[in-house]
Amino acid sequence: MENLPIISATNVVKTYRSRDVVVHALNDVTFEVSQGEMVAVMGPSGSGKTTLLNCISGLDSIDSGDVSIAGQLLRTMSDDALSDYRASSMGFVFQAYNLLPVLSAQENVELPLVLAGNSQRVAREKAVEKLDLVGLGDRIDHLPAELSGGQQQRVAIARALANDPAIVWADEPTGNLDSTNASEIMELLVRLNKEEGQTFVLVTHSEDVGGMTDRIVRMSDGIVVSASDETGDFSSVSSMDSGATTATSDSSDS
Ligand code: ADP
Ligand code: MG
Repeated sequence: MENLPIISATNVVKTYRSRDVVVHALNDVTFEVSQGEMVAVMGPSGSGKTTLLNCISGLDSIDSGDVSIAGQLLRTMSDDALSDYRASSMGFVFQAYNLLPVLSAQENVELPLVLAGNSQRVAREKAVEKLDLVGLGDRIDHLPAELSGGQQQRVAIARALANDPAIVWADEPTGNLDSTNASEIMELLVRLNKEEGQTFVLVTHSEDVGGMTDRIVRMSDGIVVSASDETGDFSSVSSMDSGATTATSDSSDS
């Protein structure tokens, strides 16, 4: 219990309504992530993993429930305050890298630094430092098209780390990579988690990827069905007793 949760989601509900179809994408989800933890969210396609990431990081709104990040209740923050907070304290990595094709690796990493108000000179220095950190110090002038998929994802990771965020969110970060590149990217993320102490929440389909994290949260049909702790230390899942059990339909826990 000594590790305070940096992320705390309680009874989160998110429903998508498009024309006559109603999708219960998150159906009363409760979970916590401790500071410095690396958590994998796993589950079948369509089970709500991306929705969970988007809702808990404040990228998307929720219908009911509460999300707190570092003790701040997201629903009490204005849109502007929330986007400032995201920009300064969170980094995002996506499956498709999402780099700007006309900008070099360095310029892609500079962008969030300039947006955060750093001078061009400071942005340049920090961008080079982050590209060094991910092993791309010799590729800073390359355009995305001149880099391999694994290298592009490293640039995206450097960009996510640019402002030294407390939390890094990654949605299938290795989904477009072959197994060799996928394990190199995962080794990089694990190293960053250990060395920089940042909290990582990553969505993955891969048991290999999930197995490299501290803990796997499993989702099915919009609910968290288990939050097992791979290390055998259950202190970080205080809100969802007895880890590996299967939650039945709705309500029940807390
Ligand atoms: P996963 O990432 O686990 O594959 P998602 O979170 O993307 O799953 O989707 C969960 C469910 O919500 C799916 O049934 C999906 O079709 C639905 N969904 C996701 N985004 C939207 C949206 N913007 N509008 C309507 N339905 C959506
Ligand atoms: Mg998804």
